[in-house]
Amino acid sequence: MLALHGGAPVRGDAPWPRWPHYDDRTEREVLAALRSDRWSVTWPGRDGGKSRERLFGEAFARYNGAAYGVSVDHGSSALVIALEALGVGPGDEVIVPALTWVAPATAVLRVGAIPVLVDVHPESGCLTGESVRGGLSARTRAVIAVHLACTTVDLDEVGAVADAAGIALIEDCSQAHGARWAGRAVGTVGCAGVFSLGAAKTLAGGEGGAVITDRQHLYQRMLLLRADSRGYTADAPGPGEYELVERGDIMGANYCMPEMTAAVLLDQLPRLDAQHEHRERRAKELEAGLAAVPGLAPIPVPRQVDRRAVYEYGIRFQPGTFGAAPIEAVAAALTAELGTRVYPPRDPLHRSLLLRPHTKPRFARLPAASVDRMTGRDFGGADHYRAHTLLLHHSVLLGEPADIDDILTALDKVRAHSPALLTKDVAL
Ligand SMILES: *Cc1c(COP(=O)(O)O)cnc(C)c1O
Repeated sequence: MLALHGGAPVRGDAPWPRWPHYDDRTEREVLAALRSDRWSVTWPGRDGGKSRERLFGEAFARYNGAAYGVSVDHGSSALVIALEALGVGPGDEVIVPALTWVAPATAVLRVGAIPVLVDVHPESGCLTGESVRGGLSARTRAVIAVHLACTTVDLDEVGAVADAAGIALIEDCSQAHGARWAGRAVGTVGCAGVFSLGAAKTLAGGEGGAVITDRQHLYQRMLLLRADSRGYTADAPGPGEYELVERGDIMGANYCMPEMTAAVLLDQLPRLDAQHEHRERRAKELEAGLAAVPGLAPIPVPRQVDRRAVYEYGIRFQPGTFGAAPIEAVAAALTAELGTRVYPPRDPLHRSLLLRPHTKPRFARLPAASVDRMTGRDFGGADHYRAHTLLLHHSVLLGEPADIDDILTALDKVRAHSPALLTKDVAL
């Protein structure tokens, strides 16, 4: 019997890996930031020297092989300053995939532009060259390409469409820290790479974000945009001196990353590659097992990807693999077998509860035609992906090979018992 119906679960009491990972070194780094009295890039330190916020921006740029990096308080803010630095504003349109976390769409609204949703590939969940072409208009200024879950956008294809149309390519790498495309880090192929460093992400600071770019002009603008039009002093400040200088070239807001967060991230960044390798070993084992289960397959990864980054591991299934059971029931049954959350992707943005611009005075009077450009279409690819993909958080792949056996056993069990998921008396 399925665990959902009171049967014995596939996995007993063995705990899944905890997330986030931290140890004594993390604690020392945070304590050092606390005791420095610095707390913020906007407050002078007792000891002088660069803020941790500045050091993390530099370290993260280096990690990605980018010329410049800017630390911010959220991935959402990173999107906002990237758009503002590019000069995107009222009257402009920005292409956003229909399937993503809501921030790319709300960031476009926050700068006064209109997000135009386009469909995604039914198997990868990522927008495509063709879908971007279909979303172009005379007002399009940029496309936000989101590398989703455990794969990447086809950057050759989408980059070529963006170049031909003369629009900017912003890569949202919030789910792809450290992924590599044809020898380069994702985020360095477009004109700016945006990252969330939220608690769930593979590089986690609790709340945080970053932008990388090779363009000095964009970097200078993003620096000012993130700190109320203040840039850095040329040299590291001395004891008691401020590190920010008022500039005024472009008005900003306060999106600064706190020093305690930067301390956590400076501790976490050097661990990221080993965690990627660990996850990749487990992912390969899982894929070897999936090949033996009819109807199941991994998410496709473009051949140009030299290193995949897994944020959420996606398992695709052919229609009918779990009979007529809806994905919510399949996910609930797997969760009950495994004791760790297995879940479907979020609803596409045109149906998302989180994208409701008219509920805010600032956007209440958007013209109907703009709202229609935004969401008034069908997205067959997004719907297919949503209904046929099961996701697992990346931390599930940070354990032992036996964990993978449990996942495969649970998939097979739920598949074999899927008719039971259709009985009406099941409480989900
Ligand atoms: C998490 C995420 C964000 C938003 O990041 P915050 O740090 O929560 O603002 C943006 N885009 C994508 C694709 C994400 O997954």
